[in-house]
Amino acid sequence: MTDSSRRPIAVFDLDNTLADTAHRQHFLERRPRDWAGFFAAAPADPPLADGVALARESAVECEVVYLTGRPERCRRDTVDWLAAHGLPEGRVHMRSGADRRPARFTKLEILRRLARDREVRVLVDDDELVCDDAEQAGFTVVRARWAARSAVLEEAQEREGRT
Ligand SMILES: [Mg+2]
Repeated sequence: MTDSSRRPIAVFDLDNTLADTAHRQHFLERRPRDWAGFFAAAPADPPLADGVALARESAVECEVVYLTGRPERCRRDTVDWLAAHGLPEGRVHMRSGADRRPARFTKLEILRRLARDREVRVLVDDDELVCDDAEQAGFTVVRARWAARSAVLEEAQEREGRT
């Protein structure tokens, strides 16, 4: 086991934790929702300074891992965006194309998997339900409250199992 593999893990959500999605909410306010448009516009997300600072700070002691409900097809854009905004390098866990379960199930599952052989020091996420469940499961949570809340995105996350 190398030193780096023993470092604790700090887990960061992307949308509305590190990336400001407000400029693309309008894609979800249409009926039917335009998910393709919503995700395609993600490269233009402004970074959220509070989240970015916390991720950089965490990288001093921890390995940073990204855990997002974005679908796999957004991987290239997402990795490029993280690099462009100076975020620490780290594995990016994304939702597989067929998976439409609400984020709180998929995220907790991945957190538990990560915690099997590593210390998960913190989860940073803006989704209150994800945070509640993670806390209940014994994880330390930082609730990202620095982005404007979006009712339409929250509803979509819960009821439609996206992002
Ligand atoms: Mg989020």
